[in-house]
Amino acid sequence: MAKIQMKTPLVEMDGDEMTRIIWQMIKDILLTPYIDLNTEYYDLGLKHRDETGDQVTLDSAYATKKYGVAVKCATITPNAARVEEYGLKEMWKSPNGTIRAILDGTVFRTPIIVNGIHPFVSSWKKPITIARHAYGDVYRDVEMRVPGGAKAELVVTDKDGNETRETIHDFKGDGIILGMHNLDDSIASFARSCFNFALDLKQDLWFATKDTISKKYDHRFKDVFQEIYDAEYDDKFKAAGIEYFYTLIDDAVARVVRSEGGFIWACKNYDGDVMSDMVATAFGSLAMMTSVLVSPDGTYEYEAAHGTVQRHYYKHLKGEKTSTNSMATLFAWTGALRKRGELDNTPDLVAFADKLEKASIQTIEEGVMTGDLASLSTLENKKTVDTETFLKEIKVRLDSMM
Ligand code: NAP
Ligand code: MG
Repeated sequence: MAKIQMKTPLVEMDGDEMTRIIWQMIKDILLTPYIDLNTEYYDLGLKHRDETGDQVTLDSAYATKKYGVAVKCATITPNAARVEEYGLKEMWKSPNGTIRAILDGTVFRTPIIVNGIHPFVSSWKKPITIARHAYGDVYRDVEMRVPGGAKAELVVTDKDGNETRETIHDFKGDGIILGMHNLDDSIASFARSCFNFALDLKQDLWFATKDTISKKYDHRFKDVFQEIYDAEYDDKFKAAGIEYFYTLIDDAVARVVRSEGGFIWACKNYDGDVMSDMVATAFGSLAMMTSVLVSPDGTYEYEAAHGTVQRHYYKHLKGEKTSTNSMATLFAWTGALRKRGELDNTPDLVAFADKLEKASIQTIEEGVMTGDLASLSTLENKKTVDTETFLKEIKVRLDSMM
């Protein structure tokens, strides 16, 4: 059978530890036998990031801007222990942070649902996608401890030097303050990414903040979303038969738990951080979660939501078999290949991505799975397999579909 051809290169960002091992296995067992894989390869493994002074991370992000679609392996974010372990020149920043800062946009995370693994919330029947704003708020804040007797003020100096002041608090005793910001442009691109993603998935979009209490800050988010929706998306949503609606964050939490799923929940940066871990865990596992960064100019970066699975890697290095779940990494590849196929108008590639996802879900639903899932699955005939066997089992099912 002739291999599937790719018109435009996919930006391939390799990574670290166990996920790097899985990366190569996925390519060898499930991709290159079927596709003439056309990628522009960037090695984001920590050793190479260090050798290039992290230039490779910047280069990979700019290549993503150029070609439009990237697939990324999990990478180590160095801490003091990693600096020593790898003899690093510097404690390099988080690659995800660097890439997000260049691409801008929103991270969408959706659970992969399979029979035999039941969400902890029994009403949930369909996936819930969290859309997390990736800029500002408490992640770019300025904080201070304030001694008793001090007065804290908010001061804004405009471009002509005029000051506007407001008292935050007259401190009798010791206390704390925090200043944070966001930008109209970033909120607008967050909104557009969410509206476009909802149209892509043909699912309702929910957005929630605390605008009754935060009458200027959170209210600005609510207004920007509504203005953009009214001006640019109302007709498109109606044509697609989907809905945008805004509610308070506490009301949203209650509605989410009572819902049957099947919608996108847009969250401010901190809410999204907290709620995506809650939703992922309630659906089963971080290894059963897809993650994609969508930028406002229509650039896509697909990744796994979990880390490099360090503990399993050290077992692997000792020559022991591991049972590491490759689903999130595999779905990063299928997501990227499908998007590349859609943009290039190569239906073969899209169909291949669909089949590969189907084969992998079928494998788990037939009872063949890695240890993390075996401990959750209610299937009676389940069998725990090692990392490589799981991928080979997927290949058997994929071959019968080709
Ligand atoms: P981790 O890689 O997410 O793994 C934590 C634990 O979760 C594992 O020890 C394992 O539990 C379980 N687990 C996670 N993914 C799994 C999978 N695919 N299959 C089976 N079990 C899985 O987190 P970490 O070990 O704390 O972090 C390792 C490195 O990852 C760090 O250097 C961190 O900087 C990096 N990281 C990268 C990203 C990213 O690039 N997207 C995200 C987060 C963290 P058991 O050991 O109990 O089996
Ligand atoms: Mg988090």
